[in-house]
Amino acid sequence: MKRIILRMKRLRQADHQISSQVRAVLVDSLYASPRSLVIGALTSSAIAAVVAWYSDDHWLIACAIGIGLVGLGRIIDTLSTRGSITVREQERGYRLGALSYSALLGLFGLLTLTRTEDGVLHLLSVTTAIGYAAGIAGRNAGRPLIALSQLCCASLPLALGLLIPLHPLKALMAAVILLFVIAMLDITQQTYAVILRATVASEEKAALAEHHARMARRDDLTGVANRTAFREHFEERLGGLSASGGKLALLWLDLDRFKEVNDSFGHLAGNELLVAVARRLDARFGDSGIVARLGGDEFAVLCHIAQTETAESIGTTILDLVRQPVPFGGHRLRSSASIGAAVAPDDGCDADTLLKNADLALYRAKESGRGRFHLYEPLMDEKIERRRQLDAAMEGALERGEFHLLFQPIYGLAQGGITSCEALLRWNSPEFGPISPGEFIPIAEENGLIVAIGDRVLHQACRTASAWPPEVTVAVNLSPVQLRTPDLTATVVSALRTSGLPPKRLTLEVTETVLLDDVERSLAALTELNRIDVCTTLDDFGTGYSSLSYLTQFPFQTLKIDRSFVVDLEHNPASIAIIQTIVDLAAKLGMRTVVEGVETPAQLDQLRRTRCDAVQGFLLARPMTAEQMAGLFTDRTVGAHDPGQEHPLPEAG
Ligand code: C2E
Ligand code: CA
Ligand code: CA
Repeated sequence: MKRIILRMKRLRQADHQISSQVRAVLVDSLYASPRSLVIGALTSSAIAAVVAWYSDDHWLIACAIGIGLVGLGRIIDTLSTRGSITVREQERGYRLGALSYSALLGLFGLLTLTRTEDGVLHLLSVTTAIGYAAGIAGRNAGRPLIALSQLCCASLPLALGLLIPLHPLKALMAAVILLFVIAMLDITQQTYAVILRATVASEEKAALAEHHARMARRDDLTGVANRTAFREHFEERLGGLSASGGKLALLWLDLDRFKEVNDSFGHLAGNELLVAVARRLDARFGDSGIVARLGGDEFAVLCHIAQTETAESIGTTILDLVRQPVPFGGHRLRSSASIGAAVAPDDGCDADTLLKNADLALYRAKESGRGRFHLYEPLMDEKIERRRQLDAAMEGALERGEFHLLFQPIYGLAQGGITSCEALLRWNSPEFGPISPGEFIPIAEENGLIVAIGDRVLHQACRTASAWPPEVTVAVNLSPVQLRTPDLTATVVSALRTSGLPPKRLTLEVTETVLLDDVERSLAALTELNRIDVCTTLDDFGTGYSSLSYLTQFPFQTLKIDRSFVVDLEHNPASIAIIQTIVDLAAKLGMRTVVEGVETPAQLDQLRRTRCDAVQGFLLARPMTAEQMAGLFTDRTVGAHDPGQEHPLPEAG
């Protein structure tokens, strides 16, 4: 008995500690078999009614009516849906019904034993109560305190009834009932222990399975949805779109220069950047929309919108979020994103079409310079398709020898001869024919091939120039991507060393957009090049932001004034004034000036008066092969290789 009481105490304590999920399952088990409850309630009520009727005792009749009513209430409770009530409320309700019913049955037994003399009636009510108690101890073992209370409420009054008045055989029967209760208490506790163990194990298994399922839909690194989950969400939301009548914006973003962050600061830095971007996106759009990492440095954001224009403002917000620097080991990692967007149902109704169109828009965003947002436009396909084809054709083109260099002479106005030659890259694709660098260089910058191609250009340009007269320098164009590669200096040194070209005879041209992107790194790279005696030229001056502060801030020896000013020379009198101002300013800062794109003798004439240092253009010479260049030097003529043009740069005139 002591052991049982101790176990009951433990049972109470243990019951307080079970998790809410396990409790819910156990409480649910109370309602698991409504049929047994209904049968139990109906038979007990029927027997009580018969006994009461036979006894004709008003106490028994009242009690039987109580049993019938409570039984009916319990049947209704067990068959009705339980709606929004909590597990605890549910359990409390069940307990109230169960205990009153058991207590009424026990009381009915007690009354039958004490108020009637009929042995058959005694037998009927005692067996009903005992049978009920035995059944209930098993049925409700999942909530043992309820089961045990029901057991006691239904059986103990019987034992009491058998003792009034005291009769040896009835007392023996009362003792048997007490032993029965003790045995049932023990059985119920043990059954409960087994049920509890099984429930906990199955709940743990279910929780684990759910955890795995959740993890399989998360991106390991960033914690946002992965591609699989994204696809599911996307299709689900597209499906609901026709009903809601709104629009769904798909924004596909790609981090610009992510590879560079990885290369320069290591993979941990790259990971940090991805995590930071994912967190920012999730914090901003995760509640109402879906944020997913589609792989690598690509993310997608899905948002319900009312008007297409909203997609653009979401795009702008994302651009701002990505632009904020990410601290990493004392550095501030900077990145930007290119974003392509497609809106359902305007740009497509199924996931595949929308993804394809957002991808096209992304391509377009990258093409128009990084850090931009672009919404899909139906005409995009064609241009982008070509870009994609060229991208694919470029793979291995370097190894297959499809690239070659042409050289365009630059003439010194004072000397009247060639002072330098600009190396200009050409791609002759067997599939697409000659492709202009204006078209293929941005693609090579995007797919990263520019580094290998640029390396080859540097080596070859230096090798070719080493055969030229010693006063002639070679100018090589550098892509912003190359300027940001950490081993640029090593590549330049290697090109100079293998060709034997003195560093002073190499000039590297960079455009001013590169300076805007990352001031510190550009400055460091340019300074480093100057340190090894290689010269630097600011190319296309006047096309970008043209901040004059660049001229003092960055170490350039030469300024190349953009062709657009020369084109304007004849129609726009202001152009000559601008060129003059730039030339004067550059001279004051100790820089040489080259004017490019000279096409007519009139332009040349005007330029001479500005006293710029050198000129370059089709009037003087078109880009030509290394052999043609060599021929030009052996002839020692200075002028156009174009046979139609007669030494366009003789004496000043
Ligand atoms: P850029 O550096 O401004 O090169 C000058 C471009 O102007 C060349 O075009 C040249 O052929 C063209 N040009 C020269 N004189 C005249 C003229 O009188 N009139 C006209 N209309 N054009 C003239 P190209 O060779 O098509 O190169 C285009 C751009 O491609 C270059 O512009 C440069 O930014 C890039 N590029 C060319 N080669 C390389 C290279 O090896 N590496 C890198 N990174 N970029 C290159
Ligand atoms: Ca150039
Ligand atoms: Ca230029």
